[in-house]
Amino acid sequence: MSNVSVIGLGIMGLPMAVNLVKAGHTVTGFNRSPARIERLIAAGGLGATSVADAARGADVILTMLPDSPDVEGVVSGPDGVFAHAAPGTLWIDASTIRPDVAQRLANDATAAGLRALDAPVSGGERGAIDGVLSIMVGGDAADFDAAGEVLGAVGKTIVHVGPAGSGQTVKAANQLIVAVNIQALAEAIVFLEAHGVDLDAALTVLGGGLAGSKVLEQKGRKMLTRSFDPGFRLALHHKDLGIVTAASREAGVVTPLGAVVAGLVANAVNHGDGALDHSGLFKGVLELSGR
Ligand code: NAD
Repeated sequence: MSNVSVIGLGIMGLPMAVNLVKAGHTVTGFNRSPARIERLIAAGGLGATSVADAARGADVILTMLPDSPDVEGVVSGPDGVFAHAAPGTLWIDASTIRPDVAQRLANDATAAGLRALDAPVSGGERGAIDGVLSIMVGGDAADFDAAGEVLGAVGKTIVHVGPAGSGQTVKAANQLIVAVNIQALAEAIVFLEAHGVDLDAALTVLGGGLAGSKVLEQKGRKMLTRSFDPGFRLALHHKDLGIVTAASREAGVVTPLGAVVAGLVANAVNHGDGALDHSGLFKGVLELSGR
């Protein structure tokens, strides 16, 4: 069992830290708003007073922060992880950030004597609570093997997909697929509603066929009840589709459906819906349909 520090105890980071406690690790948490640290302590963890405090004495440091600048701010600089973690410490970044930033920070970590993996996750808050996340990991194979006990405590499908940064590339593809699916589901539900179809019955039968998906199971219900509490905030999906757009351009590929949905997500965020769950795309379809 290891000393694991978790930095970023939000919707995802807190349940992941709690599952690490349950797996028998000594878990120290740090978060910008201290109330989240108190929740980890109540679940059997320890609290750190700063990033540096969390970094010192850890075998493994797991970061779960919103965006590329947040991760960079936490790991770099005189108060950051790289300056305070002992040589050989394994840094696992589970946040969703830009692949090029992940690659650069992995190089910086190596230069500081640390080992680094990008290990973004999919499965949402439910997957984090149940410890069954899908984890796409970029970095050295030996470091992937070393991370097994920690990643195994928070995830179920854990795959090494290539060198540093490639976990983030796979995660960007994940976010493209999920965004297009949510938009398609929202359009289908508004369509069915307009035809006066029993929506419960329709979702049940659609779920049993080729249209069935986790998106349909988890997000369809939220659309039916118009309850868009997050979950996964639209503002974060806006960030992720920005990553998809930039990485598509860099690779010279076109992602036309992704571009359309990115525009619809930006519209929702610009109209003040960034704090809603991404199933809140449904609101935009209602509006476009005059309903
Ligand atoms: P969140 O906003 O709920 O949590 C982020 C946490 O980081 C917050 O508690 C915040 O206080 C803390 N934080 C921010 N800056 C900090 C700093 N400098 N020092 C310490 N703490 C700081 O976000 P989330 O939903 O948990 O998502 C985290 C990451 O995981 C994002 O990159 C997101 O895209 C990704 N993700 C989220 C989901 C989901 O369903 N919510 C699923 C998969 C991946």
